[in-house]
Amino acid sequence: MKIAAIVPYSTVDELGRSSITFFTSGCNLDCQYCHNHRLISGSVGKEMTVDDILTVINDNARFITSVVISGGEPTLQPDLLDVVTAIKQRTKLRVYINSNGTRFDAIRDIAGMVDGISIDFKTMMPGVIPHYDSRTIETVIKSIRYIANEYRRRPTFKAEVRLTIAEPMIPLGMVPIIVMSLISWTYEGYLVIQEFDDENIRPEFKHLLKPIDIDRVVSMIRSIDTMPLYVIARTLANGIVLVQ
Ligand code: SF4
Repeated sequence: MKIAAIVPYSTVDELGRSSITFFTSGCNLDCQYCHNHRLISGSVGKEMTVDDILTVINDNARFITSVVISGGEPTLQPDLLDVVTAIKQRTKLRVYINSNGTRFDAIRDIAGMVDGISIDFKTMMPGVIPHYDSRTIETVIKSIRYIANEYRRRPTFKAEVRLTIAEPMIPLGMVPIIVMSLISWTYEGYLVIQEFDDENIRPEFKHLLKPIDIDRVVSMIRSIDTMPLYVIARTLANGIVLVQ
């Protein structure tokens, strides 16, 4: 597996858990707000064998309860299943995957092996993000439905959908549409609303992206009746806030 970075102790990559996080190299999208844009091309990082990865995990195992594999896009790694299988067989730790959900077959193949998957839902408007066309959006929705089913089948599985709130990808008016769509897709699980942070994004995109007041987003979600989702906001000023 090609690893671009390792964070030995993180409390933000799996909700409610302390984790070691591996950032895989390479991504099939090119989001303007990407904080990890140096990983997109796949040229940075080094190949680590399953044993290399287990050694790093074991060196940090006293401090963590979870291993997060993030990216980049981790489902692009051909040995993802082997790595996950080895961690599950040779440690007592949870395994959690952060994905953009664009590779449905990989999500389907890995879901039964891991303890949770989070999927970034980028926008409902095709073409606003390069490579995020209508077919890709359909595939991401299929992945979201799949993790919702896994959660119903196995309630210990953590399903999470993440939205980064910034124009033009997700303007304020799109938030209730996405929430109602998630409900109509029978999604159950966590919905995490992330406040846009322009630190570490590519300078040429800064003027194109507009943050949205997170308090307005929270109020809008709280006004939706009979919300079946657990909604959390990641805010810049107050950290994690329970919305619903
Ligand atoms: S999917 Fe994630 S890693 Fe890939 S370009 Fe978008 S934000 Fe960056």
